[in-house]
Amino acid sequence: MSPVELRAPGRWQIGTVTEIRRETPHVKSLRIELPMWMPHLPGQHYDVRLTAPDGYRAQRSYSVASSPLDEGEIELTIDRLDEGEVSPYFHDVVEEGDQVELRGPFASYFVWRGEEPVVLVGGGSGVVPLMAILRHRRLTMPVLPMRLVYSVRSNEDVIYADELRDDALLTFTREPPDGWTGRTGRIDGSLIAAASMPGATAFVCGSNGFVEAASRLLLDAGIGPQRIRTERFGPTG
Ligand SMILES: Cc1cc2nc3c(=O)[nH]c(=O)nc-3n(C[C@H](O)[C@H](O)[C@H](O)COP(=O)(O)OP(=O)(O)OC[C@H]3O[C@@H](n4cnc5c(N)ncnc54)[C@H](O)[C@@H]3O)c2cc1C
Repeated sequence: MSPVELRAPGRWQIGTVTEIRRETPHVKSLRIELPMWMPHLPGQHYDVRLTAPDGYRAQRSYSVASSPLDEGEIELTIDRLDEGEVSPYFHDVVEEGDQVELRGPFASYFVWRGEEPVVLVGGGSGVVPLMAILRHRRLTMPVLPMRLVYSVRSNEDVIYADELRDDALLTFTREPPDGWTGRTGRIDGSLIAAASMPGATAFVCGSNGFVEAASRLLLDAGIGPQRIRTERFGPTG
């Protein structure tokens, strides 16, 4: 990986949505062109801000899913929370060509700077920043040992399904696809052991409960706390 310096995040800017892709019934990915684009580190996020006609503002964070080699644009992948203030807007209102206000990239801790080997552990939309890491590794250092453990409810909830290869270990917590012979149920010690590698650095992302449980399993597998980086997306899920 060409080293990417960590800099101060950019100012608020208006990006243009160039492409919207449906990933699952509840998740969409948006490619956004940025006039003041700067390379992010895989794992970092942007803040997005919506302003209502009366001036009311709502702001949320979304991880970058794309590699920093995708110059001039970023990809955000957004899970629609039915009762949410911001995420439904990106599903129900935003169209290709629309403009959105955002600022970033942020975070200096949950970032991959080329450490190896790497174990990525994601639950649901927690796979988003992990995909940035996986994509960047595939583009820059494809032989670097990296494995993804990905927990999803059912086949229709798999985000980035076309990009999951033999470096990804999936487990279905509710409804596995017909004929599935792989893992089912919550991530457990045996799944972590199957993905773990000596000296690995681990990146864990998902809901609070998921991150707690997965981190404990990684500690039990002998990965030291200083090698476990976590990102929490929300209260439940
Ligand atoms: C660093 C960071 C990166 C993030 N990256 C992503 C990303 O890449 N993709 C993505 O979809 N989300 C991501 N999130 C979560 C995102 O910021 C919002 O919290 C989420 O979209 C909900 O916002 P909302 O306005 O739609 O819902 P809100 O109006 O904030 O919440 C509606 C209801 O849902 C609950 N809730 C809030 N967040 C969640 C959650 N994550 N899961 C379940 N219930 C929740 C609230 O408690 C509330 O009851 C990230 C969060 C952080 C902190």
